[in-house]
Amino acid sequence: MGKWFTKRRRPNAAGRHEVFVEWFEQAPDPVLLIQAEYPHRIVEANSIACRLLGYERSELVKLSPRHIVGDNVSERELRRILYQLLRNIKPTYIWTMRAKDGALFPVEINCRLVGSETGMPLIFTEARDLTDKLKMAESLEESEQHFDSLFEHSPNGVAFFDPAGKFVRANRAMSRIVGRDGPELAGMPLLSFVADDQLPATRHNVRRLPEGEPSSFDTTLLHKQGSRVDVHLHAVPIRKGKAVKGYIAICQDVTERKRAEEQSRYLAYFDERTGLPNRRMFRERLYAAMAADRSAGKQTAVAYVDIDRFKLVNDSFGHDYGDMLIAQVAERFQRCIGEGDLLARKEGDEFAVFFSGLAGTADLMQLVQKMEQTLETPFTLGEFELHVTVSIGIAIAASDEDADALMKNAGIALSRAKERGKNSVQLFNADMKSVSLQKLTFESELRKALAGEQFLLYYQPQIDIDTGKMIGVEALVRWRHPERGMVPPSEFIPFAEENGFIGPIGEWVLYEACRQNKEWHDRGYPRIPVSVNLSSRQFLQHNLKHRIGNVLLQTGLEAQYLELEITESMTMDVEHTSSLLLDLKRLGVKVSIDDFGTGYSSLYYLKMFPIDRLKIDQSFVRDIMTDPNDAAIVATIIAMTRHMNMKVIAEGVETHEQLQFLHHNRCNEVQGYWFSPPVPVERMEELLLKQAQAAAAAEGGSALH
Ligand code: C2E
Ligand code: MG
Ligand code: MG
Repeated sequence: MGKWFTKRRRPNAAGRHEVFVEWFEQAPDPVLLIQAEYPHRIVEANSIACRLLGYERSELVKLSPRHIVGDNVSERELRRILYQLLRNIKPTYIWTMRAKDGALFPVEINCRLVGSETGMPLIFTEARDLTDKLKMAESLEESEQHFDSLFEHSPNGVAFFDPAGKFVRANRAMSRIVGRDGPELAGMPLLSFVADDQLPATRHNVRRLPEGEPSSFDTTLLHKQGSRVDVHLHAVPIRKGKAVKGYIAICQDVTERKRAEEQSRYLAYFDERTGLPNRRMFRERLYAAMAADRSAGKQTAVAYVDIDRFKLVNDSFGHDYGDMLIAQVAERFQRCIGEGDLLARKEGDEFAVFFSGLAGTADLMQLVQKMEQTLETPFTLGEFELHVTVSIGIAIAASDEDADALMKNAGIALSRAKERGKNSVQLFNADMKSVSLQKLTFESELRKALAGEQFLLYYQPQIDIDTGKMIGVEALVRWRHPERGMVPPSEFIPFAEENGFIGPIGEWVLYEACRQNKEWHDRGYPRIPVSVNLSSRQFLQHNLKHRIGNVLLQTGLEAQYLELEITESMTMDVEHTSSLLLDLKRLGVKVSIDDFGTGYSSLYYLKMFPIDRLKIDQSFVRDIMTDPNDAAIVATIIAMTRHMNMKVIAEGVETHEQLQFLHHNRCNEVQGYWFSPPVPVERMEELLLKQAQAAAAAEGGSALH
């Protein structure tokens, strides 16, 4: 290393020289000594400088500075530096340096003029690598840009506040929330936008901010136009050391969410269709009412109300009419109940009412009667007028019962009321509990019966009075219960209709009846049709035609040997009935109206439907000999069918007199105990065989295989 000294403090001691060399070598930044006089060249470089530039020291020394600077540093520039140095100005430059491998990097250059021992002026050049610093500056700028776009485009309101809580800067979303732009907001306190009713809570929520504690809370701001905007606010103090220099607030507009929450809260407590409280609200209020009544020495009662035959209304007129009816019934009931009472919609066509503050049972019954009376005026659904009756189950709170138990009891009483028939009121008593337990068992048994093939068919002959021959058989389902023995359909069909078991039961009956009849035909028994009862659920199945077609296909029974029995009530939906009956007609199966006379069918429509046969209900036949009304009805029905070109059969014929009456009135077909009750397959086969033999004898040969 050459010997050199600063110009002004020329050292004359060797120790000082060594200190200088050491300092030069250990300087934290690259240092170069450049000959100040022309031709400029590098005289010395410390190891950091060598490393930075990628040269050996021996290579670097003697190079012209031109080699280690970027093209933007000219000879002239170097001269300018020198000139400045001579005038004792110590300039700082940002240069681009060039390493041996050609890489360029920014440096900050500090120059000083020093003199060597020989007196030759040198430029002491300190170069600080700026690469990292520039990168940092760049990324700072970048993140500022990021921040700006985040700030401006954030869907949430973002704003800066001074320590006094006044707006300093606000983004667009914030401006939108309060309806004022940034300049207008500047200097306004946030609290001046908070709705009056929210001020105390909001003040409370921000009280700790000046101490540096962030806070999140819901509040309501006022838009410039006066509308309320629900927001969720998250406020964070900006700290510098211990002092709080201001705040940032992020403000989310939750008006929509709040509205949705209110809506779902509403839905959680109210029935959407009727606007009545729902079961949940009913239960909560009932708990409160019971507690109040108990301490006041009064009674509380719950009534469950079910619209009779509602399913039929729904099925026949459509759901819109069903809904309309429910709304109208709700509205009438609402007018019967007192201030402390509550009417709720339980589900479907079931309502729940509780009466509170009752003095006794008489009070309660009066209220219930009032409800029944409001239904006496018919309801108008579009062009139809409808009489509605209800079944009511009532339970009065016992001292040790809670609301749930009371509701459960009302439910039990209601199912008893429904079982007793339409239009009945049933007050709960403790015996009922065991009955509904029975019902539960029944349900699980029915399930087992379906799986365990406990169902079977009995057949009842239909006879032509004139010839005494069987002209058909009706298939009637039976349940062979492992303990209870043979259970008649009246004991499980209505129940199965209610809870959906009728679907699979009905399918099985249809298939089995067709299969059996086909087997009889194949075995040479007389070819007569089998009648199968359809439940209203089956009749409403949209693919009934295909199902029946499939069964005929699977069993091979000819369509003309299947007759389907429907009831009048199923024909109420005229459009559905017409198109379905036409489809069935096309398929080739026959259709009869069962239990005719007990329903409300319109003769006008009956005439339009392609119906083959009416079955006069046994309730008329039973009393034809004693009740002139029934006799007249039966005679009229028979006459009518003749005019309408339909066949007619009388059900439940038990006596010879009945048979004679019918014959006299020109009804030739009968079904009843007089000839035979429903019988199992084997007995039916005996009857069929007898008939086949008689026919064969008449023809003089055997028809049986
Ligand atoms: P239904 O279709 O009117 O059947 C005639 C009912 O009258 C049968 O009762 C039969 O045993 C009874 N009966 C026949 N002759 C006489 C008589 O001379 N006097 C009296 N008092 N009764 C007589 P069952 O078998 O108990 O069936 C009752 C009802 O159950 C049937 O009335 C029908 O509506 C329904 N049902 C029977 N089987 C089925 C089925 O497979 N599917 C559906 N959906 N319903 C069925
Ligand atoms: Mg029948
Ligand atoms: Mg019948």
